[in-house]
Amino acid sequence: MEQLSKAYDPSKVEDKWYAEWMDKGYFRAEVDKNKQPFCIVMPPPNITGQLHIGHAVNNTLQDILIRWRRMQGYNALWIPGTDHASIATEAKIKDELAKEGLTKYDLGREKFLDRAWQWRERYGRRITSQLKRLGVSCDWSRERFTMDEGCSRAVIEVFVRLYEKGLIYRGDRIINWCPECKTALSDAEVEYEEEHGHLWHIRYPFTDGSGYIVVATTRPETMLGDTAVAVNPNDERYKDFIGKTVILPLINREISVIADEYVDMEFGTGAVKITPAHDPNDFEVGTRHNLPVIRVMADDGHMNENAGRYSGMERYEARRAVLADLEAQGLIDKTENHVHNVGHCYRCSTIVEPIVSKQWFVKMEPLAKPAIKAVRDGRIQFIPQRFANIYFNWIENIKDWCISRQLWWGHRIPAYYCHVCGNVIVSAQRPDTCDKCGSDDIEQDHDVLDTWFSSALWPFSTLGWPDHTPELEYFYPTDVLVTAYEIIFFWVARMIFSGLEHMGDIPFKYVLIHGIVRDDEGRKMSKSLGNGVDPLDVIDKYGADALRFTLVTGNAPGNDMRFYWDKVEASRNFANKIWNAARFVLLNLNGQDIEPPSPDELTLPDRWILARYSQLVEEVTSNLERFELGLAAQKLYDFIWSEYCDWYIELSKVQLHQSEAVKANTLYVLCHVLDGILRLLHPYMPFITEEIWHHLPKSGDTIMLAEWPRVEAEFMFEDSIDNMQSIMDVIQAIRNIKAEMNVEAGRKPKVVLVTNSSYEPIFQANAQYIERLAGVSGLNIKSDKSDISADAVSAVTGRAEIYIPLGELVDIAKETARLKKEYNELCTELDKTKVKLSNQSFITKAPPAVVQAEKDKAAQYQAMIDSIKERLEHLEK
Ligand SMILES: [Zn+2]
Ligand SMILES: [Zn+2]
Repeated sequence: MEQLSKAYDPSKVEDKWYAEWMDKGYFRAEVDKNKQPFCIVMPPPNITGQLHIGHAVNNTLQDILIRWRRMQGYNALWIPGTDHASIATEAKIKDELAKEGLTKYDLGREKFLDRAWQWRERYGRRITSQLKRLGVSCDWSRERFTMDEGCSRAVIEVFVRLYEKGLIYRGDRIINWCPECKTALSDAEVEYEEEHGHLWHIRYPFTDGSGYIVVATTRPETMLGDTAVAVNPNDERYKDFIGKTVILPLINREISVIADEYVDMEFGTGAVKITPAHDPNDFEVGTRHNLPVIRVMADDGHMNENAGRYSGMERYEARRAVLADLEAQGLIDKTENHVHNVGHCYRCSTIVEPIVSKQWFVKMEPLAKPAIKAVRDGRIQFIPQRFANIYFNWIENIKDWCISRQLWWGHRIPAYYCHVCGNVIVSAQRPDTCDKCGSDDIEQDHDVLDTWFSSALWPFSTLGWPDHTPELEYFYPTDVLVTAYEIIFFWVARMIFSGLEHMGDIPFKYVLIHGIVRDDEGRKMSKSLGNGVDPLDVIDKYGADALRFTLVTGNAPGNDMRFYWDKVEASRNFANKIWNAARFVLLNLNGQDIEPPSPDELTLPDRWILARYSQLVEEVTSNLERFELGLAAQKLYDFIWSEYCDWYIELSKVQLHQSEAVKANTLYVLCHVLDGILRLLHPYMPFITEEIWHHLPKSGDTIMLAEWPRVEAEFMFEDSIDNMQSIMDVIQAIRNIKAEMNVEAGRKPKVVLVTNSSYEPIFQANAQYIERLAGVSGLNIKSDKSDISADAVSAVTGRAEIYIPLGELVDIAKETARLKKEYNELCTELDKTKVKLSNQSFITKAPPAVVQAEKDKAAQYQAMIDSIKERLEHLEK
């Protein structure tokens, strides 16, 4: 049999096995009604993306679950794919065009889309090829793209259905507008940051010359669009002003003072300007009071023709001009510092402008209700549970979802407008003529849909919906969704209500939430800090297995983790430890056949490692069932490193030199447990486990499809665990004494072990292991304490007391001489420091820190002298 190479080299192993797995079609899953399905859909990375550490965590977790279930015999399907990322991709193309001195309008829609598709061809698969290096076992033959033919059909179908049910409508509403991206954004795409701004108090004079009313605002430029001033009807201060009119400064429009409960009497002056076109609350007030809606800002963030002399100014330039003019007219009552939340575009960080705009919306209330219920009644479970609260908090307060985007890259809205009669036709196919007036002068809506509109359908569009495919029937609902907590709103909630609405069933049973990876100081990784870690670098240096293991150990679901290179090194060392253990086993096996022994022929160490292995199988399996992937990894690490490598392999060295029968049994146990731990570890470290497994006596072509280990009742020797533990405790105690007493290497003391008569036979039968592993030349086991020399060093374990006569540990004459020499040297040093400290000029002239250092030195010498004196007295007794 071919032996393992001396050192493990991931680069020689990883690509080879990935190619083999792909070639043999091991990732492929077919509908098979005789098997139970297990399905995960991959959160589709953006085609603009490059593999970052967040993808690495997310996909490692999914791969562990998929590989584990596949080995358990489930029909495991992991569907990969990518997202067209409307706004992000469009930004990339625009940047590319800008380098050629072009805008998207120079190209026109059709040519721009050609460029986008070319871009997607060139870069869109970069991320998937990077994912493959991680070892992900997804079914690449089923790879999807949110804008492929099938997913696009699903999107249009959903739009038409929701429109026909009255759940999609078009209307003028306040939306979040990004003047940089020039598109509407949904609420979830706005990131709020606390900022220090101002609250300006502005005087609005009454028309009748009877003074003024003061309103407070953080966005004074929007006053140009004011159509009322509002006060709370219960506010005594303003009772008499309700119904009066004021002159809107700078614009000289006459507007009324109205009463509305919405006004907060505590905020500012208790009187507020009402700008229905530029504030969501004002829009509501305006609707209640039939106020005109006057937009004063254009889509590019500049003031429009309604802004009087400010028209054409950029919004913040206009703010300064408005304030200067108000100041000049004596209309600024006062200016306060004010901390408030300002919304920024999640793509470009530009401050978003709430603006009234004609957009398409999804009516959320009827869709949210069943989505709340599905999580409330436990059909969908969040892991950890606490994330359900974030979900409830968001979805219970959800507003209608603005789904139209003023972009070109994406799914174009299937709405058609008749230029003759104004009729709106929503249809999956482009109509030839208007169904009202018969005109053929019709034009499709220019806008595309929010990217999340298509990813909301991902769990069923990828399985063939709207067609009733066998895959959809068999694999839906999927089992687990693995995602970072950051996109619970964006994505998870929308998949849940979409699944319930269009499939009549939940999209997945579990939502496994993971945290984000921070740097070693706990900071978020970011381009500006330059503290990002490229997973491909880690793979190049340490191998994919080491990266994967690092990303899942020591971490509980939902918690953020920190990235330490030390930890990756430790994972690499773990891989090497397994490799060396496997080499040891294979060298000793030397190609011979092994047979399962009869249990009564096994030694205590054999029985112990087999029993502990069975416990490990039980624990790891139940940890995985509870999504405790980090805990299971830790148990595997501890078992392999300590119990298998550091203990059993060392114990086996005693047995491999005994009779042929003992040797054969030992080889069987070594191989059997190694085979089992490779299987258990395979989901975490797929490459090294596959490589080693192929050198073991085995059945099957790949460890990927090997059976997941089961608890072996025939090897569950319960009593062996305590018995072996008592032997190991004694070995450890003797090792500790030798270390504490500085016993020279190779010196093998005689040891007395006192135990009670019931344990005596166990120690007697296994004395050879204690002698060999603790480095002992004779073990005297007895049940009484007679004849133990008074100077013996002792230790106590659970089942025994250990005594080692001092003379066994050290040569008393030599040790006494050595200690006396050390004692004299220390006394000389102490005298020197004492002389220094009694020198008055040193004490007064030397810096205090130097004097203190000298005092510390003296104290330290004294302590060492005392301890040597004590040891000498002990020796001379
Ligand atoms: Zn933007
Ligand atoms: Zn018409």
